[in-house]
Amino acid sequence: MATKNFNAFQMAQDQFDKVAEILSLDEATRQLLREPLREYHFSIPVKMDDGSTKVFKGFRVQHNDALGPCKGGIRFHPLETIDTVKALSMWMTWKCAVVGIPLGGGKGGVICDPHNLSMREQELICRGWVRQMAKDVGPLNDVPAPDVMTSAQHMLWMLDEFEVIKGSKYPGFITGKPVGLGGSLGRTEATGYGVIFTLREALKQLNIRPEDTTASIQGFGNVAQFAIQMYTRLGGKVICVTCWDQTEQKAFSFRKKSGITYEELIGITDRFGGINKEKAKGLGYEILDGEAWIEQDVDILIPAALENQVRVDNIIKISDKVKIIAEGANGPTTPEADKIIKENNIFVIPDFLANAGGVTCSYFEQVQSNMNYYWEKDEVLGKLDYIMTAAFSAVSELAKNSNIYMRDAAYVISIRRVAQACKDRGWV
Ligand code: NAD
Repeated sequence: MATKNFNAFQMAQDQFDKVAEILSLDEATRQLLREPLREYHFSIPVKMDDGSTKVFKGFRVQHNDALGPCKGGIRFHPLETIDTVKALSMWMTWKCAVVGIPLGGGKGGVICDPHNLSMREQELICRGWVRQMAKDVGPLNDVPAPDVMTSAQHMLWMLDEFEVIKGSKYPGFITGKPVGLGGSLGRTEATGYGVIFTLREALKQLNIRPEDTTASIQGFGNVAQFAIQMYTRLGGKVICVTCWDQTEQKAFSFRKKSGITYEELIGITDRFGGINKEKAKGLGYEILDGEAWIEQDVDILIPAALENQVRVDNIIKISDKVKIIAEGANGPTTPEADKIIKENNIFVIPDFLANAGGVTCSYFEQVQSNMNYYWEKDEVLGKLDYIMTAAFSAVSELAKNSNIYMRDAAYVISIRRVAQACKDRGWV
């Protein structure tokens, strides 16, 4: 969501301009890629439970589809803005391109606050969104997914409306559906596991054995939980995690120097990824302040909670021992902090590469849904590992060979791929 001083789209365009310069892109390609191809604004009238009619504002942005159908979530948020949706759609284009899946970038949203809406009202917003967009989305041109404050239930309502309008079954219209109703096995694990598949490759490159490493993680939600599970399986030791405490309205860190145990913590965690402090104390965890995760003497930091967490004001707290930052969250590092990380030679696995396991598995869901044939979990996770490993290798090779920063290398690869596809199609 945009704030007064921060415009996400401006930031996305600045990042693009920098890489366009490195790639010496021609003017037409720059003009094409720094703006979305298409942008839809519409109104969704809803008969509310109290008998009144309320009109909600909806968006869909299709940034680029040169590599394949657009892909990206639909967010419900009271402070949603078109500029945030535009930025996120552009980032989706780069994320799909960096892992080499044949999809473009899209994003959508509705300005609303689900906290103040009944399930019936939310269902009507979902159906209204699809009624406005049905002509311009679908398995062959734009495939939505859940995002902030939308869930598998919202996706099913949207799918149902789409199928009613089209008069046929189109399970590949949308992803994030429950397993058994068109969802893919492995989707829950995909983002966290994907982070660790790229981390494993980074460790290999740095000649470090995972079993000789320790990590500290911000967050204990979907991404962090499965990252911890896979990292521990590789032999690594997580000593600290951080989460948000809803009652106290602040974050706390939970540290156990002998190593936290996923199974033990998951048993005392609520569905929002909040850990029970009293019970954690009873299990021998030290309860520290919310920033403690970043100042641990570990080899690896994994911000996996939210954006804007590694900043110039706290980067000084990062231990000299830290060798790798694997960005599980979207946008955890500010551009100013990024410069310092680069100078300090910390190896960064940038967010849109590290956390691309989620969209990769959504792509698998789309493929399975289009075939109406569903794979075993091992098959899904095996394919995920293959794609994440190949994507990491391509980025790290370029970074090494051209002596550029990992984040820049990832951008160079994805923007080059999309620019080339636009050229090959004869668009520019
Ligand atoms: P989640 O809601 O499941 O978990 C978020 C975790 O962060 C929770 O443990 C919460 O307590 C903690 N948290 C919230 N505010 C905090 C704060 N101020 N300080 C410390 N901890 C805090 O979310 P998630 O799905 O795990 O997503 C985490 C990040 O990863 C987000 O940036 C999201 O955009 C990104 N991401 C998620 C996916 C996915 O598939 N889930 C895919 C790509 C990117």
